[in-house]
Amino acid sequence: DYDYSDRIGRVEPSATLAISNLAAEKEAEGADVVDLSVGEPDFDTPANVVEAGKDALDAGHTGYTSSNGIPPLREAIAAKLREDGIDASADEVIVTPGGKQALYETFQTLIDDGDEVVLLDPAWVSYEAMVKLAGGDLTRVDLAPHGFQLEPALDDLAEAVSDDTELLVVNSPSNPTGAVFSEAALSGVRDLAVEHDLAVISDEIYERIVYDADHVSLASLEGMADRTVTINGFSKAYSMTGWRLGYLHAKDDFVGEAGKLHSHSVSCATNFVQRAGVEALENADASVEEMREAFADRRDLLVDLFDEHGVDVDVGDGAFYMMIPVGEPRSGSSGSGDEPRADDAAWCERAIEEASVACVPGSAFNAPGFARISYAASEERLREAVDRLVANDLL
Ligand code: PLP
Repeated sequence: DYDYSDRIGRVEPSATLAISNLAAEKEAEGADVVDLSVGEPDFDTPANVVEAGKDALDAGHTGYTSSNGIPPLREAIAAKLREDGIDASADEVIVTPGGKQALYETFQTLIDDGDEVVLLDPAWVSYEAMVKLAGGDLTRVDLAPHGFQLEPALDDLAEAVSDDTELLVVNSPSNPTGAVFSEAALSGVRDLAVEHDLAVISDEIYERIVYDADHVSLASLEGMADRTVTINGFSKAYSMTGWRLGYLHAKDDFVGEAGKLHSHSVSCATNFVQRAGVEALENADASVEEMREAFADRRDLLVDLFDEHGVDVDVGDGAFYMMIPVGEPRSGSSGSGDEPRADDAAWCERAIEEASVACVPGSAFNAPGFARISYAASEERLREAVDRLVANDLL
């Protein structure tokens, strides 16, 4: 019998796991599941990046690297950040095994017991867990009544933030809504951050997947360079989820402080993976663009299909997710009437059980009444999913 820590008792396993498990069970029973619950691109890693990884293995790059990452990768990351308007140098970067680790290290570095952290809901599942693991307290601002946009919610944010607030987390493009926050919205964040002397995490992992909007890096705004930790990674932009490669950037001595945790935990990101990362940053723009265009077409297709069935979606301009309303029966719905739809978890369970379509309940992101659809799937599978949801009276 182990005496488990209070810390680990504060968090639950990832809420998306329940659906993945159900989907896996159904598949094991032989069902053809359309899995729209996944947070990863369905493309191969660009061939030249794979080659660079293989070449690095062949060249014997299999040992530890310097803890914060190999210099050519940190240089390439700093150059990329400068293109985004961020005043960055290689020694302000830590290369991590995935953006997730970069986030984990950031929360551990900035948050003490009882520190207040503000999240914008719907929020990616792991922020809450990471804040709790660091001992922080959560204050949440709901963007759902504002079509998931930040600009119309700035007054709510101003009310939530005080001089007691330590940290604000911004994720644009957003998982799970796909929302891309405008420069005006981010300027509003800047004004509040300066007024209340806040640190801000800007999780920009979906930054390369944007459609009819421009991505703005928060740290590029005046007054934000010294208070922003920028998080990014290779998983989404280059379809490299399993390679585990990400990074953080911050000024001042942030890297010195976070670097202590980094060196005492993961030591370094995988050597040959870091070398593939250099190739990705320097020579994979065409592949990124191809994937972006495919995601854009799928998004438009899904919006049209949902529209045909009377489902109005507040669709975002980035990432590969959208939140569809499943909470209330819509007028004109052909529903039998005896199946309440108020519970998004129940809706998602029905979707997987009856239609073999896997989606993630909005409650996992603190957004009950919605389901998150990932469109990292072919157009054929997306059509199939909508057909099945309609056939099973779920839309
Ligand atoms: N941030 C957001 C919003 C995400 O959705 C994810 C992955 O799902 C990550 C960070 C971390 O990705 P990775 O650790 O693969 O870089």
